[in-house]
Amino acid sequence: MMGLVDIHLEWLGVSTFRLTLGSTVVLLDAYMDRVPSAPAVGLSSGEVERADYILVGHSHFDHLYGAATIAGNTGATIVGSYESLRLMSDAGVAESQLMAASGGEPIRLSEEIRVRVFPSLHSCIWASSERAADEACVGDLGVAHQERLGRLAARPGLGTLSEEIRAHVAKTGPRPRGDGGALAYLIETPDGSILWKDTSGHWSSLLHRLRPDAALLAAAGRGNVDGEPVQGSLSDFIANEVRLLEPRRVLLCHHDNWMPPFTREIDIGPIRARLTADAGPAELIEVAYLDPYPVLK
Ligand SMILES: [Zn+2]
Repeated sequence: MMGLVDIHLEWLGVSTFRLTLGSTVVLLDAYMDRVPSAPAVGLSSGEVERADYILVGHSHFDHLYGAATIAGNTGATIVGSYESLRLMSDAGVAESQLMAASGGEPIRLSEEIRVRVFPSLHSCIWASSERAADEACVGDLGVAHQERLGRLAARPGLGTLSEEIRAHVAKTGPRPRGDGGALAYLIETPDGSILWKDTSGHWSSLLHRLRPDAALLAAAGRGNVDGEPVQGSLSDFIANEVRLLEPRRVLLCHHDNWMPPFTREIDIGPIRARLTADAGPAELIEVAYLDPYPVLK
């Protein structure tokens, strides 16, 4: 089969990418309209002129917000969890543009491109975590879901951090139920495959030997391994993901300073060192916002 003429991706901050696959444009998450004090990504959801599909990893606003605007302007179909699509339906997106998935669906994006949806896991936001990628964090094992929910409920809301964040969070609309159920996506093209995950969690058995050409992996928070918090550092978590997947190249996301002071940029130097030391031959690629990268070349 002939390859596609032009394949490139552009990082738009957090876990959002714009993936151009020949004549097909696919957004991976949709969040690019950030608080003014975050570094600008150079594109707003209202400026996206073309999109055929928007794949959504989970329902939190730093992934889903922007999808309704883009779908409205471009006619794109939104693929996401039933919870993500409930929110999009409430936001006024036409039912004909909503395609719910829970993992197991092979979705045709064009004659030549398919995406396979996998069940995935969100990072353990209820557990303790370290800010630096090479700082180990252990414990929090076997905590019942009720206690996890209790810990989350006991935290001060994001809106208490700053007036800017309070206004931003209010603008992003109603809150989802939890994360809505995280999904991972394997995009298969004649030129190779791309695995994308927008939060640091996974079912090990599902990633094992998928061997995508490129893996786009979220690097933030306390990793979730098969439902329990990783016993180690973020670098350990990413290195384990890479060992499972065996990709040719790796791009990291979600490590940027997307909502200060709630976030700050995570130095990925320790992750690079760790991958070089013991996660096989995968090449770690770093891209700037909106910098086109030929991901399957
Ligand atoms: Zn999230």
